[in-house]
Amino acid sequence: MTTLFISDLHLCSSRPEINRIFLDFLDGPARAAGALYILGDLFEYWAGDDDLNDPFNASITAALADCARAGTNIRIMHGNRDFLLGDAFAQAAGARLVAEPEVIALDGVDTLLMHGDTLCTDDLEYQRFRAEVRGEAWRKRFLSLPLAQRKAEIEALRRRSESEKQRKPPQLMDVSNAAVEAALRAHGCPRLIHGHTHRPARHRHTVDGRQCERWVLADWYRSGSYLRCDEHGLAAIELA
Ligand code: MN
Repeated sequence: MTTLFISDLHLCSSRPEINRIFLDFLDGPARAAGALYILGDLFEYWAGDDDLNDPFNASITAALADCARAGTNIRIMHGNRDFLLGDAFAQAAGARLVAEPEVIALDGVDTLLMHGDTLCTDDLEYQRFRAEVRGEAWRKRFLSLPLAQRKAEIEALRRRSESEKQRKPPQLMDVSNAAVEAALRAHGCPRLIHGHTHRPARHRHTVDGRQCERWVLADWYRSGSYLRCDEHGLAAIELA
């Protein structure tokens, strides 16, 4: 079976060329695959499932549902931008939300799937922020606000995060090796696939004397790309 992995598409209505690439991807490689895993940040942001009627959100959701109806199992993990994707969205998209982390057997190899932001443990400020917004209290308060107000708050958060990124040293926003190795050890997996850092690569790690590999998925800012796993192994593929 062919399984595809993507992450960090950051889809939004203002980037039509990337949206086109994504729709073509769903119609082509994704439709032909057995499973598609979206490992977070499919959307630039998600204000709540009551925003499903927004024409852009509705078009992406319908395209996912179309691909699912054609037989592809679509699995979606929350990213730090779209962690409010809920059951109503999943149902409309014909997809299943999966918890993070998730372990799957990929051609017989136990493979750990993560978005990746929890591995950036050197960025204490970000981890504090994450703990707050991923808590039940924040979620309840936020989702009780009117949709327009939620969108305005998200815009303000995004502006703040953009300016913070400018002043943070780049290595602070990458994963920490210790966190990667701890995750591989905790789950007993020789392979990890994640996104979030926008630094596509294949890394090798030695964990307790065992060879492990870590695939980092690319973002979809300039073009699209996906990681393909089939009987020939894993390969990162760029979309024109
Ligand atoms: Mn992310």
